Amino acid sequence: GEGLPRPEQTRVIVVANQKGGVGKTTTTVNLAASLALHGSRVLVIDLDPQGNASTALGIDHHAEVPSIYDVLVESKPLAEVVQPVPDVEGLFCAPATIDLAGAEIELVSLVARESRLQRAIQAYEQPLDYILIDCPPSLGLLTVNALVAGQEVLIPIQCEYYALEGLGQLLRNVDLVRGHLNPALHVSTILLTMYDGRTRLASQVAEEVRSHFGDEVLRTSIPRSVRISEAPSYGQTVLTYDPGSSGALSYFEAAREIALKGVGVSYDPMRAHIGA
Ligand code: ADP
Ligand code: MG
Repeated sequence: GEGLPRPEQTRVIVVANQKGGVGKTTTTVNLAASLALHGSRVLVIDLDPQGNASTALGIDHHAEVPSIYDVLVESKPLAEVVQPVPDVEGLFCAPATIDLAGAEIELVSLVARESRLQRAIQAYEQPLDYILIDCPPSLGLLTVNALVAGQEVLIPIQCEYYALEGLGQLLRNVDLVRGHLNPALHVSTILLTMYDGRTRLASQVAEEVRSHFGDEVLRTSIPRSVRISEAPSYGQTVLTYDPGSSGALSYFEAAREIALKGVGVSYDPMRAHIGA
């Protein structure tokens, strides 16, 4: 694809929503792959014990693999767990193993328990344009570590009943972390996922989200697409699994929008590759 402006400093984007199944992992891996295909260097940090992001990127994450658990709990350098993603130049992953399920509790008794990921990222010396952190569906210490480590929060919202339910709690947590631990933190991006423009419900939810969040909502929304849901079982993102599909194009476009927003260039949907 055409080159996109790269950020001057690494943008650390936390993909969070304590609801499960809204498209956090799908968004993390597909945006990351899109940004890498646009020419950026991108690290995905898998912070969900399920390890779905690692699986979707084709990254080995069986129990003995050095993982983000070792970084958080054993203070292993991040560089020692990062693996290159096969088939996508410039894309890397710090995998999650099942150990991470215990980290939520083990972290409680550790010093600087909220800022262990932040420290690990600060000590990571490889140049990166983006770090995308895939959060678990909860607001516990793993998500808090992500919020302390990042500058930006990206909230995927599924266009379904109760889409906004529970978001207040996430937004309050973002405010708390900003107030006490990380003044730079802000909700930079809302992405509508599994959007079906033919249904009234989807367009009503979209309208509600846009009136609530305004400019943070990306113009590009992600359609419901079988290709998107199939790709992970092949250890691939939809960008390599079916690059011409509507799902791939929409993530590629959303990534372009995010990259342009980051350098203060307003996004012109008339120049988009597909309709917004
Ligand atoms: P979360 O990480 O928030 O729990 P996932 O990204 O795992 O959510 O998505 C939940 C399920 O929905 C997965 O099975 C995924 O493949 C599917 N899915 C996500 N986005 C789409 C989409 N745009 N179209 C079709 N299926 C999707
Ligand atoms: Mg997930």
